[in-house]
Amino acid sequence: MTRHSTKPEVTGTRTGYVIRFTCPVCTAENLIVNKTPRDHFKETRDASCTRCRKRSTILTPNGPAKKASPASVLPIISPVL
Ligand SMILES: [Zn+2]
Repeated sequence: MTRHSTKPEVTGTRTGYVIRFTCPVCTAENLIVNKTPRDHFKETRDASCTRCRKRSTILTPNGPAKKASPASVLPIISPVL
């Protein structure tokens, strides 16, 4: 499945429960405060710049803590009949 987006993609940085990113249009530094770990550990999220309102897709692939192995991310399907 491919996603097509016209929004620019920006790589953000996780700091605590906050994601930092720099707006690709006006280069303002923006913060996203996450309310849930689920939001925080998503690899992408949409955010709009607080200065110019440009919407971007913020990428945070895995973040600094690379503890989880890829296998633990896969859904576990148990064959129950
Ligand atoms: Zn901006």
